[in-house]
Amino acid sequence: EQARHHHWFIGSIDCGTTSSRFLIFNGEGVPVAGHQIETTNMYPHSGWHEHDPIEMVERVQECIDKATNTFIEQGHIKSEIKAVGVTNQRETTICWDTNTGEPLYNAIVWPDTRTSALVRDLKKKEGADELLQLCGLPLSTYPSSVKFLWMYENIEAVKNAYDEGRLSFGTVDTWLIYKLNGGKDANIHVTDPTNASRTMFMNLHTLQYDNKLLDFFGIKRSQIKLPKIVPSSDVEAYGALASGPLSGVKITGCLGDQSSALVGQCGFQPGQAKNTYGTGCFLLYNVGDEPVISKHGLLATVAYDFGGDRKPIYALEGSIAVAGSGVKFLVNNMGFIKEPSKITELAETVPDNGGVVFVTAFSGLFAPYWIDDAKGTLFGLTQHTQTGHIARATLEATCYQTKAILDAMEQDSGHKLRSLAVDGGMSDSDLTMQTQANITGIPIDRPTMRETTSLGAAIAAGFAIGVWKQFDELSDMSRDGRTIFQPAKMNKKTKTMFKKWEQAVEMSRGWVN
Ligand code: ADP
Repeated sequence: EQARHHHWFIGSIDCGTTSSRFLIFNGEGVPVAGHQIETTNMYPHSGWHEHDPIEMVERVQECIDKATNTFIEQGHIKSEIKAVGVTNQRETTICWDTNTGEPLYNAIVWPDTRTSALVRDLKKKEGADELLQLCGLPLSTYPSSVKFLWMYENIEAVKNAYDEGRLSFGTVDTWLIYKLNGGKDANIHVTDPTNASRTMFMNLHTLQYDNKLLDFFGIKRSQIKLPKIVPSSDVEAYGALASGPLSGVKITGCLGDQSSALVGQCGFQPGQAKNTYGTGCFLLYNVGDEPVISKHGLLATVAYDFGGDRKPIYALEGSIAVAGSGVKFLVNNMGFIKEPSKITELAETVPDNGGVVFVTAFSGLFAPYWIDDAKGTLFGLTQHTQTGHIARATLEATCYQTKAILDAMEQDSGHKLRSLAVDGGMSDSDLTMQTQANITGIPIDRPTMRETTSLGAAIAAGFAIGVWKQFDELSDMSRDGRTIFQPAKMNKKTKTMFKKWEQAVEMSRGWVN
């Protein structure tokens, strides 16, 4: 069986917030070639966060070109790449003109908070309290729906296109797949349930658009072209690459990045969880084939839907807006260090946080708090405070928030997690992972191969064309080579620090905009 697919490879496009990449995986889930390019993140006003949709496509294309070149230099041939999967930053919203295929505005990126006043008003509207049950998400600045509404209300080109019925809406998966297929000529306008479940337009139970949800946001189906929702793993729906070295290769998998990491970590069993420390940090807990609506500030979302006779699988999610982007803030804005990988070194110049707590609420605070008007709050400064203390506090912010999320998960599910699989850029920091283990009191389990987000999309794509047929075949894939960070004995200091964190969270509230 293994030998038969010896020369089968799967490509994976990952369009993230910090970077875009293309990796080529072999049948054992090992990346053999890849290329990565940084994304231009634009912050035109306080709270605004944009990407250029054209650059997004160009950089992905360049990554495909360069990685394929490397693959060929290794002695491979292009035709060994049997399919391509797509994974992407979620919620980020793009509007384009159906007639021309060109964007009408920059992409509004998921942590953007320009919608906070809009959200305040929507919360007062009739029907607001029914949304969570239908789509699994609370009203906040986070989902695509409010980002779209802002564009409609503020960008003339978007309003005109909507009024004239030539507006196409998409998340990043939809936009990329549309463009990679050749844009308006091929006219492939699709999304998968993991991405659609972040818009607030999709009913979590039917996996279809829900008129109640669309009506709440005042959206008329006749005026807007919404992507067709198809399974995350599908041989036909996603079309094929139209140009470049892999022209003609089918796109057969699509997963939002956090779902993709869960799949890449082989979190196929209910009760398994993973936490991805990227730009933000996202904990997904597999709850099986029925959605669980949280009572404690978590999101209900689609984990993956592999189609055919397989039921869709759901997750409870704890979303943290700022993780690695907090590290970037110390690099770019504060000039503490030259690059993110130096943060651990700086943090280790001091033995502890020196009483400093940093609520990195640059985009309000997400799970489990959902405080839209929170602002970054640095707490506990004295004449003793060094940059090392602030570095530690920045890393710890994600660890404390993860602890709060795990507490909420335990309350929602009635189970305490036994270990937590981790990945993402910031999980490279041993200090952070050890701190995480100490604060939560559970072992932190980090694979050596940490391209799990990319691997998940490759798995979805490979499943569609029969590279793998059963989840069992995959389960050992990312298992070899793992580091386990065992928790130190819980002491009084750890508990006191968490109390201080909670106090600081309260102090980050209510900043007048
Ligand atoms: P994304 O998928 O959101 O684009 P990645 O998983 O690629 O993110 O991680 C990138 C983030 O990880 C950056 O924000 C960066 O600051 C952070 N990061 C990268 N390396 C390290 C490190 N060694 N220690 C801490 N943070 C890091």
